[in-house]
Amino acid sequence: MKKYLLLFAALSLASAATARNPRKTSRAARLQAAEAAADSLRAVTTRQAAVIDSLQCIAVCPEEEECAPAEEPRRAEPDPRTPEQIAADSVADMRRRMERKEIRSTFDTESLTVIDTLDSGNEALYVVLFSDNSWKYVRNREVAKDSTIFEKYWDTKSLFPYSSVTKADIPESVVVTLVDSASGFHYPYKGAVNPRGKFGLRRGRRHQGVDLPLRMRDTIYATFCGRVRISQTVRGYGNLVIIRHDNGLETYYGHLAERLVEPNQWVEAGEVIGLGGSTGRSTGPHLHFETRYYGQSFDPERLIDFKRGILNREVFLLKRSFLSIYSNAGQDFDDEEANEKQDKQEAAERAAMRYHKIRSGDTLGHLAVKYGTTVKRICALNGIKPTTTLRIGRTLRVR
Ligand SMILES: [Zn+2]
Repeated sequence: MKKYLLLFAALSLASAATARNPRKTSRAARLQAAEAAADSLRAVTTRQAAVIDSLQCIAVCPEEEECAPAEEPRRAEPDPRTPEQIAADSVADMRRRMERKEIRSTFDTESLTVIDTLDSGNEALYVVLFSDNSWKYVRNREVAKDSTIFEKYWDTKSLFPYSSVTKADIPESVVVTLVDSASGFHYPYKGAVNPRGKFGLRRGRRHQGVDLPLRMRDTIYATFCGRVRISQTVRGYGNLVIIRHDNGLETYYGHLAERLVEPNQWVEAGEVIGLGGSTGRSTGPHLHFETRYYGQSFDPERLIDFKRGILNREVFLLKRSFLSIYSNAGQDFDDEEANEKQDKQEAAERAAMRYHKIRSGDTLGHLAVKYGTTVKRICALNGIKPTTTLRIGRTLRVR
């Protein structure tokens, strides 16, 4: 992976040098510079093909040093390892990829235009060049092997196409690849989860996702690459986008002010899919974000550190026990609203509380008059009797 990153950095530096001071040049000159950059990058596609080969090599080699140099043509040479060794190595590699690490968002494609699309030497991938001379690998959907994910249970109208799937049909645990060389990550929105909007039960009411407070019309990004399944106005959710990803997960983006994608559209991680808002049953601008597998919700904070905008690991072991046993087709926004109402009521009660520190000469009768209440009420609030001796310095709740 290091090799890949180094080459990427070198390419970015080289191309940045050719497009210095873009603001001062005319549009024609900028276009010329972009074309020149595209030409020079086109020349390195053969090298990129070699990089892809070496990436594939890294994917199976536990040690980078053991990999063949990238220049060597790839042949079907017999693997010197025994099948047991290969299996052990791949388990070790999987373990390494499951470890907790910090994965930052891949670069944004917002405000960038695509200059050119190039062959990568691998028919499943191609290289896209952007107007800032950056580039990235994109999966070629025409030859994508496992398209069943986007065919089975595919419904662009109904929120929940999995009604025939029971929880028993879902394996005990499943390995979910979150990022690899061709599929990146981008935070949906960078901001702390509302402490009252976490996943799970609160006061016996279920919350199927996390609530991320935002400013109206803040940008919302696709978390992983995939295909838009739902883009419509849904009761409760307001403007809702659901994306199904290559790894089988689905992500939900609710309460959007605006939806910027259509059903069946392919999206890359980091593509702008909408603007944050407060549509549907929402008491203030926030993103209601859900992660689901076969329609069953699990805590998105298992995947993403929203405050820092970071993905927690490359590969995620999704256990059936993570899935909400209360999960259903969607969020019940009656629940969310009831909690919100109760929060407000409790906050108002807390704000109305008054305390009094006993001074010499204070009696319960005096306090009742002073705070416009009764002796009986003060006694009830503090668990005391009207005959209780008031110690000087003691604090009593009076309202
Ligand atoms: Zn919510």
